[in-house]
Amino acid sequence: MPLFACQNDASLRALDTTLLRCEPTEDGLFIGVTEDTVLYPEGGGQPADRGTLDGVAVLDAQKVDGEVVLTLAAAVAPGPVRMEVDWARRFDLMQQHSAQHLISAIAQDRFGRATTAFHLGAQVSSVDLDGATLSEAERLALQSAVNAAIVEARPVQPRLFAPDAMPANARSRLIPDDLDGPLRLIEIEGYDLNTCGGTHVSNTARLQAVVLTRIERYKGGSRLSFVAGGRVVAGLDAATQREQALSRLLTCSVDEQHDAVQHLVDGRKEAGKVEKALRAELAGLMGAALRGRPGDAVGYHQDDADLRTLQQVAASARDAGEARPMLLTGDGCFLIDGDEALVRAKGPQIAAALEGRGGGARGRYQGKAARVDRRDEALALLTP
Ligand SMILES: [Zn+2]
Repeated sequence: MPLFACQNDASLRALDTTLLRCEPTEDGLFIGVTEDTVLYPEGGGQPADRGTLDGVAVLDAQKVDGEVVLTLAAAVAPGPVRMEVDWARRFDLMQQHSAQHLISAIAQDRFGRATTAFHLGAQVSSVDLDGATLSEAERLALQSAVNAAIVEARPVQPRLFAPDAMPANARSRLIPDDLDGPLRLIEIEGYDLNTCGGTHVSNTARLQAVVLTRIERYKGGSRLSFVAGGRVVAGLDAATQREQALSRLLTCSVDEQHDAVQHLVDGRKEAGKVEKALRAELAGLMGAALRGRPGDAVGYHQDDADLRTLQQVAASARDAGEARPMLLTGDGCFLIDGDEALVRAKGPQIAAALEGRGGGARGRYQGKAARVDRRDEALALLTP
């Protein structure tokens, strides 16, 4: 079969054809082979269509040795069948694919950047261009040229040629290995003639709009992300809703959002500095207060303390003249401070008692612990 029904007429949404055979797979699904297909089988960078075969969900469509192989959710009896395309999904893919052809053509003709690869994604698609990375001004100029071509409402149509009659002005001259029919090229009138087996919109006007959302430096060239058609409308709608929700949250107008967020970020930074200073001051006071506690060894626990806080408490206790060995515990951490020989001897035992691990030198041993609630038991080990 030279071409499938979906390639001869990309606007076809349903097809009456014949199911040649249907077999179960090991994972509980079924494989069906049909005579022709209105569901585009994955190929040429375009994902496989979804749809139904006599009402049964088609989960995948592949071309294998010239045959259409469908993955079915349930068994279907061989014979005459009706195939239907998930049209919303297919039309979205057609918009992205035709947009890719148009972007690639204009990027090459006006900006001297050839397309080296492209990807049609479920949310965002991309075109990889060679040459120097596109500048922001070039991105805007390319976007503007693509949208101008949409407004021109240029016809887009497949054109067939004999396998040995590739037109001289064809942009891509790649011929598929498994070509068993005519050469198929997609023409965007006045812009592009390109070898492609995919499904396309019939006119550039049906692309609605294209937004080039991002440029990244990629493999010595640029990766250009884009959205086309319904995705532009949905994307702008989502962005507008987000903007309005943010304005309510920040109690400011959309134009004031940037300054409002900057103000919050600056304020948080400032508050962080104040908090750090207050924590250090508190640690100093707590350390000094340890001096009055009874016992041969000193225990100190603070639920939310990190290791740095424990170090500050220990240092201020020493500054205040505390000479006894100390075990300090916090949020999943511990610290032992005292005579070097004692700490070296007891450190690993105390870490084990707290189900933790630690290390240290010169009279200090510290680390993480899973069971700081066992601190009393651990403190007893430290008592000389
Ligand atoms: Zn294509």
